[in-house]
Amino acid sequence: MSDRIVMGYWDCPYCESKGIPGTTYDCPNCGRQRGKETKFYMKPGKVEYIQGHKVVGADWYCAYCGALNTAGKTVCENCGSQKDESKDDYFSLKNKETVKQPEPPKPAKPAYKPKRKLKNNFWFKLIRAGVIFLAILYLISLIKEAARPKDCTFEVQNLTWENSIEIEENKTFRESDWSLPSGGRLVYTASEIRRYDSVLDHYEPVTKSRQVESGGHYDYSYTDNGDGTFTEHSTYVPEYTTEYYTEDEPVYVQVPVYDTKYYYDIDKWVYERTETTSGNDKSPYWKELNLSDKEREASRKSKYRMEGLLNYKTFGHSKKKETSFEIREDWWKSIETGQTLSVTLDDNKVTEWHKVK
Ligand SMILES: [Zn+2]
Ligand SMILES: [Zn+2]
Repeated sequence: MSDRIVMGYWDCPYCESKGIPGTTYDCPNCGRQRGKETKFYMKPGKVEYIQGHKVVGADWYCAYCGALNTAGKTVCENCGSQKDESKDDYFSLKNKETVKQPEPPKPAKPAYKPKRKLKNNFWFKLIRAGVIFLAILYLISLIKEAARPKDCTFEVQNLTWENSIEIEENKTFRESDWSLPSGGRLVYTASEIRRYDSVLDHYEPVTKSRQVESGGHYDYSYTDNGDGTFTEHSTYVPEYTTEYYTEDEPVYVQVPVYDTKYYYDIDKWVYERTETTSGNDKSPYWKELNLSDKEREASRKSKYRMEGLLNYKTFGHSKKKETSFEIREDWWKSIETGQTLSVTLDDNKVTEWHKVK
């Protein structure tokens, strides 16, 4: 809907006539032309449309006689002064009335001084954390170094060996699967549920709702044209109602799908036992194996150790302790019981040694 022109009204301040139509410039009672006190208004509950009215502009104010004239006139209807000499119109007069005293200027904000707040700086915090972390690492390494056994000698009291053979056994297992694997000996088959399929069973009506535009209305607002009329603005506001309807929705059932399951026997090599021989001489040997055809050898491992008394210094104090080390086979062969060795330890393992006596 296009905007329409609506009649405004004004009151005469001289004779107190009220509700004079905006298209009338002279008071019908006292004959005075409307002046700067004029305020156009609309009568509550009454909208009077004006046909054929063109808004050319707000009324201009004659500075000589104080009359308001229609924008279409170039000379004052009341006194004949030129429009060019007029500085105000209906709206600028209203604005002047409402202009307030300017607020006192606020005290200027102090100029921004960037402060070097180093402690709140992200990078400062990061670097500080890094320095603390490195310091802790250094401290830990110092303690470790002090605790590390130094000037170690080892009195060899015993040399031992240990040989172990891991043995596997061929065992039969009963298993089942949806197919028969190679090596599987079928025992029986059975029809079993492998999975469930969703199958459409039927449709069921379901009540649903939706918003439907059911009509609407216009909202109106009015703006003052400053020439004794107002412009009506309309906005269409649609209205909605909830509509209910039914829709058929599919209902599914879970249907089992059967398949053939194979039950079979299958042979597998599994750990059975470990055969260990050991001694404290220099002639290690392996256990004589007497394996059945259901058994096999899986792996062989040898371990060599030296047992004795470790003399060492830690935190500057001399200490002794009974201990043993696992060592390489060639070391074990060249070391003899009763010897004293100078040893280097790392993480409780011998990394280097030489004979002292
Ligand atoms: Zn009047
Ligand atoms: Zn005038």
